[in-house]
Amino acid sequence: MDIKEIISKMSLKEKVAFCTGSDMWHTKALKELGVEQIKVSDGPHGLRCQESGDIGTGINDSLPATCFPTAVTAANTWDPDLIFEEGKAIGEEALEYGVSVVLGPGANIKRDPRGGRNFEYYSEDPYQAGKMAAAFIKGVQSNGVGTSLKHFACNNQEYKRQSGNSIVDERALREIYLKAFEIAVKEGRPDTIMCSYNKINGVYSSDNENLLTKILRDEWGFDGLVMTDWGAMSDRIKGFKAGCDLNMPGGSAYMEEAVIKAVESGELGEAVVDRSVERILRLVKKGLKNRKKYSFNREAHDLLAGRIACEGAVLLKNEDKILPLNKEDIGVFGYFAEDIRYQGAGSSHINPTALHQFKELYPEIPYVAATDKSGELIDLESALALAKTVKTAVIFAGLPDSYESEGYDRENMALPKGYDRLVEEISKVNGNTVVVLLGGSAMETPWADSVKAILYMGLPGQRGAASAMDLLTGKANPSGKLSESWPFKYEDAATSETFGMHDPEYRESVYVGYRYYDKADVPVRFAYGHGLSYTSFDYSDIGLEDGKVSVEVRNTGSVSGSEVVQLYVSPKDAVSRPVKELKGFRKITLMPGESRRVYFDIEDDFFTVYDGGSKKTGGEYSILIGSGSLDIRGEIAVNIEGEPNRYAGSLKGTWYEAPSGKPSREDFEKLLGEEIKPYEKPRKGSYTIDNSILEMKDDSFIMRIMYGITKGTVSKTFKKEERTMENPAYKMMVTAATDSPLRAAVISSGGMLTDALAEGLLFMANGHFIKGLKRLLKK
Ligand code: BGC
Repeated sequence: MDIKEIISKMSLKEKVAFCTGSDMWHTKALKELGVEQIKVSDGPHGLRCQESGDIGTGINDSLPATCFPTAVTAANTWDPDLIFEEGKAIGEEALEYGVSVVLGPGANIKRDPRGGRNFEYYSEDPYQAGKMAAAFIKGVQSNGVGTSLKHFACNNQEYKRQSGNSIVDERALREIYLKAFEIAVKEGRPDTIMCSYNKINGVYSSDNENLLTKILRDEWGFDGLVMTDWGAMSDRIKGFKAGCDLNMPGGSAYMEEAVIKAVESGELGEAVVDRSVERILRLVKKGLKNRKKYSFNREAHDLLAGRIACEGAVLLKNEDKILPLNKEDIGVFGYFAEDIRYQGAGSSHINPTALHQFKELYPEIPYVAATDKSGELIDLESALALAKTVKTAVIFAGLPDSYESEGYDRENMALPKGYDRLVEEISKVNGNTVVVLLGGSAMETPWADSVKAILYMGLPGQRGAASAMDLLTGKANPSGKLSESWPFKYEDAATSETFGMHDPEYRESVYVGYRYYDKADVPVRFAYGHGLSYTSFDYSDIGLEDGKVSVEVRNTGSVSGSEVVQLYVSPKDAVSRPVKELKGFRKITLMPGESRRVYFDIEDDFFTVYDGGSKKTGGEYSILIGSGSLDIRGEIAVNIEGEPNRYAGSLKGTWYEAPSGKPSREDFEKLLGEEIKPYEKPRKGSYTIDNSILEMKDDSFIMRIMYGITKGTVSKTFKKEERTMENPAYKMMVTAATDSPLRAAVISSGGMLTDALAEGLLFMANGHFIKGLKRLLKK
């Protein structure tokens, strides 16, 4: 039966119900019409495929899959071809497990170093994030398996991610936050998009017609399906109108009844519902058609994970060329050498097919843990004793598991004190100290000047430990570059005063990451795009011909190596514009003495500013070619014809003209053109279905009881010893379950919290106990 015919045979009720998941991981089947269900599973850096669609399945109980390095390390490769390979491999694993859509990649911008999910995202720069996401999508989809580009959009912090309102001006929205998605949609052509939980300028993403239809479909040409993040549907009627097709992971009776009434009354056209049904059926048909028996090559995927870890490792510092080193010369320190930090917590958590540990791989190397799992210093004495006897001290340090996760943000940018102390003390007794850093986002490294080398591995996936050794010993040559700036201290970040608000004010506008540090003259510890190699590269002879900029790059060292050639565009008159913006990059591998010419097409987008539309802005520009954002090796001037930069006038006298220090709310309001209504804590009497149990529990006895029940239910999915807030998976699940709006809890609870129950409880929480009781008793 073709899709139109199927739809014609469905009742309105069936159609509305079909636009919700059947359980956590499946679409609905239509048995009489011959439509089977398809399965979706989490990504993004591997498959978190759960056998059961049950809500009560433990988040970490998924089928074994390759845990590739998380997006932070993948992005640091700056190699879209390699990320295509990763996507392709993940698609193969999806085929084996019968999964039709991989829930990833994530293209949200790393707005602030504390973002709990930064490790799942690619970059602070939209061009880089978009390119990497597009490559991943193409890789997965080359198998006929779909992807879900997420979380669309402006989900840049975990705190109150389910109810917060991201307040952002249109230019920043277009030039930064939507740009990454735009590139990924246009180039990657994902089968589906996942809308985020949060509001953007007052409108929930699921209700947002401007976002999900006008921009996504009409402007960008997206023709796939939009699904909600799990429990993100705000208002089903608005959702249909907005173009939000699939409500995951399930529906709620009150939403569906409201839709049916709205169609009957003419408020909502049935054709709008049909449109979503059609999109879902198209996806299902494609999924079923491409299903096949497959068995992925575990060993090859493990090796690929290792390759990405090597290519994504960033050599931040290498004084006196201390690296590479001889294995025989080292002593190793830090708990991560026996239990590596290689992935993050939450829905992306993979149950790896294999896990390599440094201590097991190299038992002959002398080792003192000196710290425990949480990074606390437990045995400095033994560490110092060993450090004094070895030529080189290699310390594995970084962020423990509990520091960063989906569901909550980092408290600060520091490492555990134990690691800082360990590095400081060892570097006092051993002049050849090398730090291998693990963690999903920028960290403060107050000891950076006292150590000889720092190798940042990000979260390097299941083969990370072996990759670290390959890099330390020179079997692999580091070629990663940072995809985010590393400020000296958290307070230096433009966002340090607004990140983590209930309704985050994106006051810094387009000045995100290096766009801010450059412009406001704030020195950073390690700049965006920075990364060293065991060889050196010489750039020469920049030229401009036939609409192309080109440069000669030569490997001037004695080993082969890869270099990421970066292209930035810098307007001469940069009033109210970033000093420079990344517009191109290319990774090349050169043998010693080899040279190659690298070409970049000059594109209109190099010169655009968003001002009610993308406007090519005229004037003098420099095209900068470099090895890092602060390591520019040459430039060429161009004169571009185009429109004037109106921001130069309209933002005069505000922070945005020439940013320095932090932007104020007043200036931000001028930029927005309206006053910001500060968030008001809800109170008894005014609670709505958008409020969470956590928000209501302090002045509602019934919500305190619900809090206990909810926590208890979550706890049951964990083993006894795992039920501690030190366990990020537990902390995240408790936060997610107790702090999600009631309407989301109804959708995600798998039928445990019915809408009648939610409504009754809400009456009670608002002080109407009898009314609530009646609602509970009413069928
Ligand atoms: C996360 C998504 C994920 C979904 C399903 C949500 O809480 O935000 O990234 O795909 O859960 O696990």
